[in-house]
Amino acid sequence: MGVVSLMIPHRVSSPDELVDKTSAVESCDLERGYALLMEQPARAQALAQDVERRGRSQGDLAVVGRALALESRVAMRCGKLEAALEALVESESLLARSATPELAAEVAVASTRLTFYSGGYREALERIQEAVAIADEHSLDRIRLDARFHLSLILGSLQLPECLEVARETVVLAQTLGCPYEEAMGRNDVAYTLFTRGDLEQAAAEIEPAITIAAALRDDGRHVLAYALATRADIRLAAGAALDALADADEVLRLIETGGDPDPYLTGFSYGVRMRCLSALGRTPDAVEAGHRGLAVTGEAVPFVRGMLLRDLATALRCSGCVDEAYDALVEGFHLERAVLEQQATRQLAIQRASLETTAARREAVAVSAQNTELHATKAELERRVKQVERLRDRFREQSEQDWLTGLRNRRWLAHALPPMLSDAQRKSFPVSFVTVDIDHFKTVNDRFGHDAGDRVLQAFAGALVTAVSRTDIVVRLGGEEFAIVMPATPKAGAIICCERIHALLREQVWPVRDPNVKLTVSAGIASSDEHGGARELAALADERLYTAKTTGRNRTAA
Ligand code: GH3
Ligand code: MG
Ligand code: MG
Repeated sequence: MGVVSLMIPHRVSSPDELVDKTSAVESCDLERGYALLMEQPARAQALAQDVERRGRSQGDLAVVGRALALESRVAMRCGKLEAALEALVESESLLARSATPELAAEVAVASTRLTFYSGGYREALERIQEAVAIADEHSLDRIRLDARFHLSLILGSLQLPECLEVARETVVLAQTLGCPYEEAMGRNDVAYTLFTRGDLEQAAAEIEPAITIAAALRDDGRHVLAYALATRADIRLAAGAALDALADADEVLRLIETGGDPDPYLTGFSYGVRMRCLSALGRTPDAVEAGHRGLAVTGEAVPFVRGMLLRDLATALRCSGCVDEAYDALVEGFHLERAVLEQQATRQLAIQRASLETTAARREAVAVSAQNTELHATKAELERRVKQVERLRDRFREQSEQDWLTGLRNRRWLAHALPPMLSDAQRKSFPVSFVTVDIDHFKTVNDRFGHDAGDRVLQAFAGALVTAVSRTDIVVRLGGEEFAIVMPATPKAGAIICCERIHALLREQVWPVRDPNVKLTVSAGIASSDEHGGARELAALADERLYTAKTTGRNRTAA
């Protein structure tokens, strides 16, 4: 039979490869839980709850979410769909807050399965494709198989032809990964798909290896063997071999009854097959009895299986002439089906709401983080540009405060740098001397040697000044052949000595003109911040004294 097949991993990839180290132990336990899901759901449940408890105490949301997804699967395996929904909704909400690939894929598979049980095939298809993609991308082998089983199941329910292809792909993947349990399940799916298409011969051929592999697993493969035998019963019944089919159905029921934790779906379906076999063999009272027993065993837990049993029972009753009872069974089945549909619709809505909330929360988180990234990028770009502008500004300022001919600082620099220097000096109570220097009769240099030679001389003169002053002094070209020297922490006496040094240096200086004997002299005026604290006034005072030096014979310093 091709009811929802499930997956139990045997020897799939090691858990260490699946998750990060922090939750390696929990992940290992979860893998064991999945391995026990079908055959020993009670143990799987205990493992899942234990992992959930540990995850909560460690504050590891991803671990809690994964444990809840497994609990949801266990609940479904046992036919407890409301409990399954509750666990699923919570794991969905955790997915919104902590998305690891394992959590995302496992929640997607659990959600798919419950959606499928609730009749939402289209929605289930979308979700399971997401799970397949995540599992493939992150090489989560167990989930790759698990998701494919569900994909093939849903494709089959939608009667889409790709179903067979996916089922075959799953068989190959299970073989590649060395998972006989999953291989048997995959082969069962292939056979059941062929059966539903009416290809009985091929189906019969395909189901045999599934049975052989499942039987070889003994106690570990009870469940998958039961599924495969139920499929063979369906195939045999359709092929007219009702007696052989009945033998298979009985063997299925024996397997279910001797194993623990009967799967209500498998149980219900198996009674259905047995009923149909008995009807086909003309043993109508036995068929009716099987129907009643099936209803008693499956109980109220899985109404949709119960509804199906009631339908088969009504047919059997009608065949045996019990029209009244057949009618009653049909009416009960009808009410049940309506109740099931309502339940399904409600559940589907809840699943969709949980999933939508998760999607919305995650979209929001993604949008916020994208916005943050963008802001970060913008901020970085802004910082980069600001730095660039600052560099440009500095260079521009340097250039604009620098004399193009001599490389010295210029009048603009002086205008912006001198006032704060003077304030600083005043605060620290040390004097600043300010000297203006003007070359005497410079016009004659130009006149004798030309303007270019005059430029070269100005450059040489600037160099000579820089050499003559101390390292903390700043030489400025004010314009033309006029210079200034700012001497921080220098009293007027120091400035006078410096000017004398300049006069002496110039006497020795050879200029870059045709006549090596050309000598230059300067006139200088000194003013001190002791005399005047303001920059403008200080310069004016120095200028005044320079004028004095000029008018009193040049080649001298006036202080
Ligand atoms: P004084 O002793 O009175 O200062 O005489 P002076 O000739 O040095 O002064 P004046 O102001 O009469 O002439 C300054 C000359 O400096 C005039 C101008 O040709 C020259 N000069 C000014 N700037 C430059 C320059 O950038 N390059 C050259 N080659 N000459 C310049
Ligand atoms: Mg001059
Ligand atoms: Mg001049």
